[in-house]
Amino acid sequence: MQIEPITEIDVYRATLAACVKAEASEQTQLAQVLRAWVDASPFGGCPACDGRAPWRNEPQCQTCAGDGFLPVAKINPPADRFDRLCGCALIDIWPSEEARFRIWTIAYQQDYKRKVVNNGRQVIPDVDCQKCGGTGEISAT
Ligand SMILES: [Zn+2]
Ligand SMILES: [Zn+2]
Repeated sequence: MQIEPITEIDVYRATLAACVKAEASEQTQLAQVLRAWVDASPFGGCPACDGRAPWRNEPQCQTCAGDGFLPVAKINPPADRFDRLCGCALIDIWPSEEARFRIWTIAYQQDYKRKVVNNGRQVIPDVDCQKCGGTGEISAT
């Protein structure tokens, strides 16, 4: 079965709650389906409170607003240089690589480009680009 990851935090929260309930009530098959869904979705435990419920009188966690989880993108902001490349930047691809690209799928090409860029491959920015100021990289915010 192909599992579609959950991207909406509200949907994830509801699915997780249903999953915990199904597990607690021994609805094993339902719990399995829901658990697979939860596990396939890009959310993870909140690093600030570790997913722990607040003590009585303790204010709820500021980082996750009491959910105990966060979108993975917020937990690990991309350290990936490839992800920070500006749309204007051209990757310096060698002719020998270009020849191989012709028989590769787009996804495979993207993986390869990510690898070479993160390994320090030169990129050629548009020096007049307003978005990145001509550096080819957009600084992570
Ligand atoms: Zn938290
Ligand atoms: Zn740019």
